[in-house]
Amino acid sequence: MTKHLKLYIDGEWIDSANPNMQDVINPATQEVIAKASQATKEETEKAIRTAKRTFESGVWSEQTPAARAEMLLQISDKIEVNLKELAELEVINNGKTKREAEADVEDAVNTFRYYAGLLHNQTEEAFEADKDLQTLIVKEPMGVAGLIVPWNFPLLMSVWKIAPALAAGNSIILKPAEITPVTAVKLYELIEQTDLPKGVAQLLLGTGAVAGQTLAESNDVNIVSFTGSTKVGQQIMQAGAGNLKKVSLELGGKSPNVIFGDADIDLAVDYALFGIFMGAGQVCTSGSRLLVQDNIYEEFIEKYIEKAKAIRVGPGNDTKSEMGAIVSEKHMESILNYIQIGIEEGAHLALGGNRMKTDGLEKGFFIEPTVFTDVTSDMRIVQEEIFGPVIVIQKFKDEKDAIQIANDTDYGLAGAVFTKDQPKAIRIIKKIRAGITWVNTYHLSSVRSPWGGYKTSGIGRSLGKYGLDEYQETKQINISMNPERIDWFEGNK
Ligand code: NDP
Repeated sequence: MTKHLKLYIDGEWIDSANPNMQDVINPATQEVIAKASQATKEETEKAIRTAKRTFESGVWSEQTPAARAEMLLQISDKIEVNLKELAELEVINNGKTKREAEADVEDAVNTFRYYAGLLHNQTEEAFEADKDLQTLIVKEPMGVAGLIVPWNFPLLMSVWKIAPALAAGNSIILKPAEITPVTAVKLYELIEQTDLPKGVAQLLLGTGAVAGQTLAESNDVNIVSFTGSTKVGQQIMQAGAGNLKKVSLELGGKSPNVIFGDADIDLAVDYALFGIFMGAGQVCTSGSRLLVQDNIYEEFIEKYIEKAKAIRVGPGNDTKSEMGAIVSEKHMESILNYIQIGIEEGAHLALGGNRMKTDGLEKGFFIEPTVFTDVTSDMRIVQEEIFGPVIVIQKFKDEKDAIQIANDTDYGLAGAVFTKDQPKAIRIIKKIRAGITWVNTYHLSSVRSPWGGYKTSGIGRSLGKYGLDEYQETKQINISMNPERIDWFEGNK
């Protein structure tokens, strides 16, 4: 029987009053795997009122850091026990491979554990500000946190927001992407089994236009943390201006991966493939622009294409598949449209470019690993985020040229450099205007490291201690150690 996904508000699973249910599709087969409720504006407002009420009650916001840490550990343990099921659900809803999905769930476990540990280690500042004046700097929760996540890492992006938001003591409302709600529902079923007080965590399924926009506009939401497109990030900033709510935005990218002639070519080829084709290119930090020095350009491309050709594309639950499906038909059409634009702009299509319909893939949304060479910076396929398995390869002459091309975009999320010359690597990476960077590797990062971008790639940082700061207010408390009357006004004498 098709699963019926509900909203979770004030500790209850409820059906939306909206009679229209969203079909949730497996992108590898187009099978309907669930039907999801779609929250109305009124239901979103109810979730906000509940979160505000529980926040003000102190039932969670006033618990000690140790008590909050204990709760995060309870959640992490539940996720760990259900790792296989969560990964399977992610595979059938998002289309990613089993290997990718299992890594996401492991990362989700680690994220809760990391923030539990951080709570035990977060210390407050105290100093003598003046004679007989002791000052404390304390961190407090912000209030109600609206957490809006995309479809590319449905579980992991939820956890990257839920773990620090709860660690800080906020009450939360999660809104997953309309097309990938399945693992968020499972996560909330697990949270329900812990001792987290009812009404602290709500789940709203439904559209960005209704549930997302209502969260962004509400004067009772104190922070919106959003991951998704730059366009919607801008809309959220505008919608949030009413109460000057904090917005934390992790947006798109068009990240340069710079390969110098003195790099270990086989290593660079491996990571350049991993950089774009992992997650079928539907990763915010994908190394979607490859910059290759002219003296190795031909050799590099030959090796790169050879290996890209061999990538096994298929359903995520087939262990032989190395690259899964595109998340939806709409997104697949958008990627195919960009491929057409690239051809019309005069880029050389060196590999792929088509939807795959052979060998049992005909019902799913699969695109061949696609390689464009000889591109130039003025092309749309070089400037715009395609968010699919499409790499654009550009030639550069020297360091100056590489830096100029690397930074010639509105985005600034990630970047990488491959060279055996370490001082050169540091020189280049420091010049790349991006928040997440690599030297001689790609995509590897830890929960301790701040995650976020420069320029139109966003504001604020997820993960690490920076991720916890994002959900906290900072307060100064000034304490007189010798209370005495003040003779500022004559009348006081
Ligand atoms: P969106 O930015 O539209 O969606 C991300 C999330 O925001 C979803 O939960 C969505 O809900 C919600 N949302 C949409 N509109 C609003 C709104 N007005 N107010 C509040 N929340 C809203 O991304 P798309 O799914 O449309 O993907 C488009 C492009 O965005 C991709 O091609 C890619 O370039 C980029 N993207 C970047 C990601 C990243 O990791 N940085 C992740 C995903 C996409 P709903 O599900 O209803 O649309």
